[in-house]
Amino acid sequence: MPDRSGKPGRNCPRCPRLVAFREAWRKQEPDWFNAPVASFGPVDARVLLVGLAPGLRGANRTGRPFTGDYAGDLLYATLLKFGFARGRYAARPDDGLELIDCRISNAVRCVPPENKPTPQEITTCRSFLQATIAEMPSLRAIVALGRVAHDTVVVASGERRSAMTFGHGCGHPLGTLTLFDSYHCSRYNTNTGVLTEEMFHDVFAKVRAHLAA
Ligand code: SF4
Repeated sequence: MPDRSGKPGRNCPRCPRLVAFREAWRKQEPDWFNAPVASFGPVDARVLLVGLAPGLRGANRTGRPFTGDYAGDLLYATLLKFGFARGRYAARPDDGLELIDCRISNAVRCVPPENKPTPQEITTCRSFLQATIAEMPSLRAIVALGRVAHDTVVVASGERRSAMTFGHGCGHPLGTLTLFDSYHCSRYNTNTGVLTEEMFHDVFAKVRAHLAA
């Protein structure tokens, strides 16, 4: 059953391992956010970006998706370049950065140990993503950052996982939407050359062209 709300409570109890991890970090770093991270950006946006999960010292610390770690540097610079954001990204939630026609969420809302949610946790949190998608009346494109986000969006949209295969730069018809795939903009992927800045920009150029079509 899809959750009616795309917003888990601060103490969402559904994933015991993630709850324990969250509690441990609340003790260790009481000034950090340490809770399920809400989507960022306007609900009437035409584009939704879906990442994997909050980074420990990124969104889990600051409370805003992709804010405060390396992945955010490339992501927000790209959104600014393609007109999906306005202002200045300063890696903190009070930097005044505004998203335009674009919203950011995650497949899993709580930080997982070593950035690796289990299949069960991905399934358990999926109803929040389903609700997030359902509450966006103008949605035309979803950008999945990585294979897990791709699979989660596909299943959340009522399709079988095997119906479409992840491929960087690919666009898949998904009901009334188009699902665009990109390798995740993680430090690991950019350091190893799996994803270059140019490759990442190409995905957003395709999204822009899709919106203009
Ligand atoms: S990952 Fe999602 S379902 Fe699991 S505890 Fe966090 S908010 Fe709840």
